[in-house]
Amino acid sequence: MTIDHRKLIEAVARVVIDHADELTTLDQAIGDGDHGINMKRGFDAVLAQIDALAAKPLPDSLKAIGQTLIMKIGGASGPLYGTLLLNLGKELPPEPTLADAARALAAALAAVKKLGKADVGQKTMLDVLVPAQAELAAGADGPRLRERVAAAAQATIPMRAIKGRASFLGERSIGHMDPGARSSSLMIAAVCEALEG
Ligand code: ADP
Ligand code: MG
Repeated sequence: MTIDHRKLIEAVARVVIDHADELTTLDQAIGDGDHGINMKRGFDAVLAQIDALAAKPLPDSLKAIGQTLIMKIGGASGPLYGTLLLNLGKELPPEPTLADAARALAAALAAVKKLGKADVGQKTMLDVLVPAQAELAAGADGPRLRERVAAAAQATIPMRAIKGRASFLGERSIGHMDPGARSSSLMIAAVCEALEG
């Protein structure tokens, strides 16, 4: 399918920027309160380059966004989201099918897991990204995928954090949504909406 990736990039950047306060509030509860600020800094930098990004083929554009996120976001999430996008860029063909997207996301998630030495069930972004990939591989449509990622972010509330800063809180990390799970769910939902609309 031909993807208007300018629209896609703008939708993802906007949703992150619009929810920066919410992401920061979530990170105040179980982290150091910078997730929204970090993510906004990264996506402000992405929007500042939107013309150049839109002019590149989709894979090159994703790689460039990955590099920007690594440089600008910082924290734990910068290298992780950056690695995700860099690897998506490496794996995706210029005009991907849904099957291409599922395969590329699986490969990119393997790189994220390796970098963060993490996996599902540890109260991180992976608790949204991994089920999202499974839905995609199963051929889920946009509305189904949006519902699934929202539920997956909610499902991090009763989890105890095993990775990242929130793990320092031990039992006290229970009862709060993971900020990275929330940012992942927002970004995936924005991609779905942009592709649907
Ligand atoms: P920091 O924790 O360095 O302040 P952020 O606040 O920007 O960075 O991001 C925190 C989020 O990063 C967490 O909510 C979690 O989802 C994610 N995260 C942290 N460590 C890992 C890891 N090892 N693997 C996957 N995700 C992680
Ligand atoms: Mg933080």
